[in-house]
Amino acid sequence: MEKEALSRRDFLKVSGLSMASFVLRPEVVERGSPGVISKLETDLPLYALTIDDCFEPDSLVGVLDLLKQCHLQATFFPVGRAAIICDSRHPEIFKRLAREGHTIGYHTMEHSEKGTVLQTTGGEWNEDYDEWIETFRRLLGRDIFSLAVKRYARAPYGEFTSNFLDMCQNKNLTPYFWSAGSSWLVNDWPLEQGDILLLHATEEILSLMREKIQYVSGDLRGTSITCFDDEAYCSYFYPSEGMLRRRKNFSGYIQGA
Ligand SMILES: [Zn+2]
Repeated sequence: MEKEALSRRDFLKVSGLSMASFVLRPEVVERGSPGVISKLETDLPLYALTIDDCFEPDSLVGVLDLLKQCHLQATFFPVGRAAIICDSRHPEIFKRLAREGHTIGYHTMEHSEKGTVLQTTGGEWNEDYDEWIETFRRLLGRDIFSLAVKRYARAPYGEFTSNFLDMCQNKNLTPYFWSAGSSWLVNDWPLEQGDILLLHATEEILSLMREKIQYVSGDLRGTSITCFDDEAYCSYFYPSEGMLRRRKNFSGYIQGA
């Protein structure tokens, strides 16, 4: 059957609806916008290693084993629901993560589809963050901020909307983008000092990491975002004499000398 043409009234109704969704759709912040950090300032040969999502429990274990073996630390941005799945398969895995010096930032409860992320209101983000925090209280114990959880946030897909950023301000969170992704590993592109490398805890990325992470890192050491502003989180990274000398400089740097 041939489609009926829209009446003028229907047309106005439909175009009104699409106009409304356009107006309601929050603006997405571009990479490098003020307030969203995509690269870190440092005089030291460091880059920040960040691992997102964590929907694959066995891959998360593999990533932790590899980081331990390579003396690397990272900041994880786990999705709340993924963390629950990992914990049910490997009980207390996030306690292990904390014990081994890694840190954790907020990456939402569900990692909803892009369209939903763009339509989420500030109030809904606030509630989502509270639920995510409660989830990690259950997984890590009550005092999570003295353990591994930091006031960092990363929007799903890096879609930092104005509503997401309002929530960050409300909850005193620093939003972190990234400056390098898994294509750095695939293409052997060297990292630069202060780069934020984004990877995911998946089987595919884990095998890439095993093969290439040291090569792509070059002379740089992979560390958590936290290491850039808290020396205590850096001590693990200076095994050689040369690096220990740099650590002394780092103390001065931290104290603003
Ligand atoms: Zn993600």
